Amino acid sequence: MVTLAHCDGGGSLRAPVVGVLALQGDYAEHEVALRRHGIVTRRVRSVAGLAGLDGLVLPGGESTTMLRLLRVEGLEEPLGALLQSGRIPVLATCAGLILCAREVEQPAQRSYGVLDCRVARNGYGRQLHSGTVPVAAERDSELPLQFDAVFIRAPRVLDVGPRCRVLARRAGDPVLLEQGAILAACFHPELQAHHPVTERFVARVRAGLASGTAARSAVG
Ligand code: GLN
Repeated sequence: MVTLAHCDGGGSLRAPVVGVLALQGDYAEHEVALRRHGIVTRRVRSVAGLAGLDGLVLPGGESTTMLRLLRVEGLEEPLGALLQSGRIPVLATCAGLILCAREVEQPAQRSYGVLDCRVARNGYGRQLHSGTVPVAAERDSELPLQFDAVFIRAPRVLDVGPRCRVLARRAGDPVLLEQGAILAACFHPELQAHHPVTERFVARVRAGLASGTAARSAVG
């Protein structure tokens, strides 16, 4: 497999390292999707795992269980600090999006509030209403105008505030959002090879690594 590597100030090569929160959910699918793009992945299960990353994925799963495990593992606060900092690109899918939202309904639960939107859990119905659906990208999003998206007991975005940009919609509903370093999807790009959302995230990770490299070179 060909992997793209980056040159740091000292002239050595390294591939971007992306952490995947691996407490629960479909983190293994994210790892496979990222490795297709030459990304090195690291399972994040403790605070130490958050150090030195070029990007982070909050996977799909059960957001209530994830919240409980984040607290048990002592990750709740350090993860919140990282999300607030905007220091590295973050891809949040489905349950990951729910963790980031400003407000969660159906039922209500706590969330990090780093994504200016209100969401209803399981807002498209339960498992029976899950499936692959075409979604429409906004014209200025730099995404293909239409692409397929896999929805599984997905959250429904009820409103979006001014800090958050809508990148794609499902029958008018926002389903792909971006706010600063956070790219958040109601669906599962990791379940389809070379999905445009995964590609957008990987491009942001590479750009961040390259600019960090440039900054280090300038200092050295
Ligand atoms: N329904 C789940 C939740 O509320 C999210 C589903 C998913 O991540 N596929 O956390």
